[in-house]
Amino acid sequence: MFTLNYLVVGSGLFGATFAYEAAKRGNHVTVIEKRNHIAGNIYTKEIDGINVHMYGAHIFHTSMKNIWDYVNQFAEFNNYINSPVANYNGEMYNLPFNMNTFNKLWGVKTPAEAQQKIEEQKNELDFPEKPNNLEEQALSLAGTDIYEKLIKGYTEKQWGRSAKDLPSFIIRRLPFRFTYNNNYFNDRYQGIPIGGYTQIIEKMLSSDLVDVKLNTDFFAKKDEYLNAGYDKIIFTGMIDQFFNYQLGELEYRSLRFKTEEKDVDNYQGNAVVNYTDAETPYTRVIEHKHFEFGKGDKGKTIITHEYPQNWNRDKEPYYPVNNQKNKELYKQYVDLAKKEAGNVVFGGRLGQYRYYNMDQTIMAALQLVKQEFGE
Ligand code: FAD
Ligand code: UDP
Repeated sequence: MFTLNYLVVGSGLFGATFAYEAAKRGNHVTVIEKRNHIAGNIYTKEIDGINVHMYGAHIFHTSMKNIWDYVNQFAEFNNYINSPVANYNGEMYNLPFNMNTFNKLWGVKTPAEAQQKIEEQKNELDFPEKPNNLEEQALSLAGTDIYEKLIKGYTEKQWGRSAKDLPSFIIRRLPFRFTYNNNYFNDRYQGIPIGGYTQIIEKMLSSDLVDVKLNTDFFAKKDEYLNAGYDKIIFTGMIDQFFNYQLGELEYRSLRFKTEEKDVDNYQGNAVVNYTDAETPYTRVIEHKHFEFGKGDKGKTIITHEYPQNWNRDKEPYYPVNNQKNKELYKQYVDLAKKEAGNVVFGGRLGQYRYYNMDQTIMAALQLVKQEFGE
């Protein structure tokens, strides 16, 4: 059989899914990873018997049955349902925005009462027909109180810019519903892999046809890799960095994670607590054991504070900032790639500059597999 030689840059979910499928078809894959571990941002590490999400809370959720079945080959998932709680200056509200939130805010008990309250607030505002930005979108969905207490502060510190300068799709990620239902997602399937996420990537990369090299940055030897005779290079790092930022920098948002052990069984009573005021410098506190219903050593818990920060070339680019300006610049990089990238294909959250959830990342990788192997 005719086999190909691939270089995959990045051992995150995109690169690993591609490597797994390529090796399954008898091809050879070298995976290089600049970090000292595999799995990219879904990396989990066991501390005190708790699977710690080292790069922020990761909850798998999807409505695509084929993707759910696909990921279940690599791990068994538990029945965790994400139900974060918001802390606004000490007032606690259920998320996403639902009847429990409205009841706590205004004392309303029925959907009609809640709708009326929101309508009253909206009537005091002036809107364009189609919201132009996140602020207009949030106000037109939820009214002033919810926007001021639960959205504005969180959003502006998360993204480091005014909610008027952000695309409206970001807030449409969250359900807004008039039922007493605290499930953060509307998707059909949801859970956390029992034993953590790293095992998924380990299994994906376990073939004898896959070589993984950690602590290896593509840019340390870019020309060597490009000229090493690989049939194809799958690049899951930043597309603007690949081209040496020659058309300008795309904008990213970075994060700082502060993880610590506490000598208590239960620190905050929930896996995720959001801090939605503007002054608290962190956006979320994660208590990892609650993703697996309290599993872990007695008397110990691990928590992580998530601090948003500006991105620069020395920081990790966790989120693409998909506003108009960056969309246009990204498109120019795609055009450049068509002309100059040769046998390099760009994939994943950074390579495609998209706010992909894990299921979308797997789907995009499987699309590339189809394209590559003509199936
Ligand atoms: P990454 O995981 O970023 O992997 C890219 C890899 O490439 C990294 O390991 C990186 O070190 C490596 N790399 C980059 N450049 C180079 C280079 N030059 N040389 C060598 N290696 C390189 N999704 C959900 O579905 N549910 C969630 O709850 C959820 N929560 C999230 C929370 C946070 C804080 C973040 C940041 C993301 C979250 N996501 C969530 C999204 C999820 O993390 C992504 O969909 C997924 O990890 C993307 O995989 P990837 O392979 O594209 O990217
Ligand atoms: N958001 C908010 N208040 C919250 C949680 C989220 O205003 O308590 C907004 C914020 O703009 C955020 C977006 O909703 O960036 C998407 O939230 P999600 O939880 O999906 O963000 P992620 O987990 O991707 O960081």
